[in-house]
Amino acid sequence: MLGLMQDWPLLVSKILDHAAINHPEQEIVTRTTEGPIQRYTYKDLHSRARQMAKRLEMAGVKLGDRIATCAWNNARHMEVWYGVMGMGAICHTVNPRLFPEQIEYIINHAEDSYVFVDLTFVPVFEAIAKDLPKVKGFVIMTDAAHMPDTKLRDVICYEDWLAEADDDYTWPTFDENTAAGLCYTSGTTGNPKGVLYSHRSNVLHALLANQADTLGLCASDVILPVVPMFHANAWAIAFGAPAAGAKLVMPGPKMDGESIYQLLHEEGVTVSAAVPTVWLMLLGYLEDQGKELPLLNYVVIGGSACPPSMIEAFETKYGVQVFHAWGMTEMSPIGTLGRLKPKHESMSLSDQIALKSKQGRAPFTVEMKIVDDEGNEQPRDGVAFGHLVVRGPAVSKSYLKGEGGEILDADGWFDTGDVATIDADGYMQITDRAKDVIKSGGEWISTIEIENIAVGHPGVAEAAVIGLPHPKWDERPLLIVVAKDGTSPSGKDILAYLEGKIAKWWMPNDVAFVDEIPHTATGKIQKMDLRAKFKDHQLPND
Ligand code: AMP
Repeated sequence: MLGLMQDWPLLVSKILDHAAINHPEQEIVTRTTEGPIQRYTYKDLHSRARQMAKRLEMAGVKLGDRIATCAWNNARHMEVWYGVMGMGAICHTVNPRLFPEQIEYIINHAEDSYVFVDLTFVPVFEAIAKDLPKVKGFVIMTDAAHMPDTKLRDVICYEDWLAEADDDYTWPTFDENTAAGLCYTSGTTGNPKGVLYSHRSNVLHALLANQADTLGLCASDVILPVVPMFHANAWAIAFGAPAAGAKLVMPGPKMDGESIYQLLHEEGVTVSAAVPTVWLMLLGYLEDQGKELPLLNYVVIGGSACPPSMIEAFETKYGVQVFHAWGMTEMSPIGTLGRLKPKHESMSLSDQIALKSKQGRAPFTVEMKIVDDEGNEQPRDGVAFGHLVVRGPAVSKSYLKGEGGEILDADGWFDTGDVATIDADGYMQITDRAKDVIKSGGEWISTIEIENIAVGHPGVAEAAVIGLPHPKWDERPLLIVVAKDGTSPSGKDILAYLEGKIAKWWMPNDVAFVDEIPHTATGKIQKMDLRAKFKDHQLPND
């Protein structure tokens, strides 16, 4: 017997309808690419997103067509995002940090018919437009006064184009499993693969994000997503904030410490989310300028491991709580978030920081477990390592056009490619990417843990650990360090600092100094490049 409840498809357009009806005056504040701060409301966004949908229909865009955006977090990006998804087309967010050949590849692979381009990225498309045969028009996301002098073909001015439609438009209704968004993973090998979100997965993921123990957004929050809309859905915030009626503050192109501080301070931001690099810049600025963060309640840090020293700085110096989060493009992206449980409140500060350094617990709708090489589940004891596998309604079941073949096992688990522990309370800790883990004497060494501790040394700006071949132990760790400006720590100093903080047999056999550590388009350490660079490095005799 079926239930007798209404058939109310979980469509992304319903999120924006909800915000416009229940929070019409709530603000969206943008630092525009042109410079000035712009303010409008959910009511305005609702109107302009429907206008966008109507304009797209006038241009011949239909259900299932792919429309690309290459843009910062700003109000116009939100209009395109909701306009495209709301009318049933697919919003393909392009990460401008990909190599031009990769951008060309993904736009052709997705068969995008229009590309919405922020002013900053016009040169990227000037270089590759001739190789994008399916693109009918490049919509420059600005007004007539700011249109650049460009040789880009088929250029359209966003504001002029949008003004050709009005907002007299009703969102269509269709199956909630219809595709809504597309984001390519930026793997270190092979071509990027397309992750195709549905309306249903996006709406369920917004509800997941708004759970009190996850992002926990509400109508009194002011949220600043520094995490970009072009990478993994801005960690659900572009959906979760309107669903909760939270004020949204969009940083546009400026992510330096001073610019982020200004927005936090002037807009009364209560919650923000970013990768560790952004927070490092902000903490540096606060320290230099002697500034405080009295209104900020908590920051969510993820994308790569958040070092304990960062959690300590936020919590003890600035009274801002840190919640470490983990996820991936294939998970929409939120997988875990590290809020404490009541029983942890009485723990010492250092124990709390150690627990908060783990990547956190799974919210409802994320299932996860760790398995060995044969797929046997490993104990949830916080000690056993294993391949982290996940399931859930906002987790990919395959990539666009079947690239990469079958990605789930027989029971529907997706292998994240991460290696982790899970403890009895459900807190997961990433120890490595499976391909980066060091195997020494048959045991695994966590490179992330060593890196996390090394960056606590006052002379270390960034650290990366890689495994080098070793005749006796198979592999041994090499610690690669970028020294902080104005300091010149010695390798010996740094190793002495690690002593007692990691197992003896994890101690790196050597320390190498570099000016810069290479990063991927999504800000992760490019260990493949480091392994190539240091392949002939001789570890000292042990
Ligand atoms: P992406 O799909 O580009 O978002 O990358 C996802 C990958 O980033 C994950 O599989 C992890 O390897 C890594 N990652 C994300 N968040 C964290 C975190 N908090 N700590 C360590 N690694 C992370």
